[in-house]
Amino acid sequence: MPIPMLVGNWKMHTTVPEAVALAHAIRSRLDDPDDVLTVLCPPFVALWAVAEALKGSTIALGAQNMHYEEKGAFTGEVSPAMLQGLCQFVILGHSERRHLFGETDDLINRKVKSALRWGLRPILCVGETLAEREAGRAVEVVRQQVERGLEGVGDCHGVVIAYEPVWAIGTGLPATPETAQEMMVEGVLRALMGLYGEHDALEVPLLYGGSVTPENLEGFLHQPAIHGALVGGASLRADAFCQMVRILERVRG
Ligand code: PEP
Repeated sequence: MPIPMLVGNWKMHTTVPEAVALAHAIRSRLDDPDDVLTVLCPPFVALWAVAEALKGSTIALGAQNMHYEEKGAFTGEVSPAMLQGLCQFVILGHSERRHLFGETDDLINRKVKSALRWGLRPILCVGETLAEREAGRAVEVVRQQVERGLEGVGDCHGVVIAYEPVWAIGTGLPATPETAQEMMVEGVLRALMGLYGEHDALEVPLLYGGSVTPENLEGFLHQPAIHGALVGGASLRADAFCQMVRILERVRG
């Protein structure tokens, strides 16, 4: 059974001083959690300063995106070589990257393979749009995103998958825990089992994301195929984020 996990995606929020203050506020409230793998994903420019703020803590650090190349003429991009040693995780294929910045499964797949080569743990995000759900294609879409995102990845060790229905992200309208469980099993797990076999597939941490708050988190954690959450908006409030870590400790720790 994977370790319970809570990931905070700060998106394009916080200046560097604000990010450091938030990291300190979270760290001081949590007292170095070890039953829950807790990951903060600040903006790129704050990674170094937040890494300093978290030094000696069990709280891990993640980036929100990266390019797949090591270096080169890619103005504005950040490479795995730059992230290596600075953070342990990288969110890839977030729905905002797919839908606002046109990222395809092929591009995301290159990034996933590159992250693993550089010793970074990819948090591969998948999820259907409302139109795809209404067309009855949700399971098929998510299965394909997992299969394409992991194409050529021979070993799923280190990979984390976040199922985040696009219609639930930032809307205040989360999926029901039952829907999230069904999608995790029929969409994500079936794809992982097809690729890696049951034993290895069951070792991959599976996170639900989409309008998670301290009020609704517990419902998701009672679903057997959900090991934690990827949280956007509510991760920007130290109290709410730490409350969610404690809920994970109590229910899944
Ligand atoms: C996210 O950023 O991945 C996310 C799920 O956002 P929110 O929790 O705000 O819906």
